[in-house]
Amino acid sequence: MADLGKTFSGRVGIADMPRLAEVVLDCSQGEAELAFDRDGRKRVRLRGSVKATLTLACQCCLRPLQIPLESRLSLALVESLDEAERLPDHYDPLLLEEPRIRLLDIVEDELLLSLPQVPRHELDECVCDLPHETTQDPAGREEPAGRNSPFAVLAELKHK
Ligand SMILES: [Zn+2]
Repeated sequence: MADLGKTFSGRVGIADMPRLAEVVLDCSQGEAELAFDRDGRKRVRLRGSVKATLTLACQCCLRPLQIPLESRLSLALVESLDEAERLPDHYDPLLLEEPRIRLLDIVEDELLLSLPQVPRHELDECVCDLPHETTQDPAGREEPAGRNSPFAVLAELKHK
């Protein structure tokens, strides 16, 4: 692919990305473009961009919150951790653990890495009456258990 200078582009949706589907409510307008080539030192690299509008649950009022994300990536394909450590800073390593790579996995990883740790509305858009420092329910009830979101786990940690 790198020797041929191949570029791949297309739309991606929530149905393509099961790991992302576990932590977001929806993913719309997902698009990715990824291009293989070699740099001056013959390293295989994969560069491109990923963008999508993700819908997450606000960690204050738990209502949906849309977050547009756009991320550029510059990966160098490596076959060992030693090789990864020798990469210049402008590359992120993509460790080849199998003979094939799945581009959708790369797109999904990129979106997962771009997620805000604690998604919440702007103060004036949030319907929650609480000060934004806490996620506790005003009536002191348990947090809705809801989905298996890592953000729910974060909220739990915060209580402790
Ligand atoms: Zn909110």
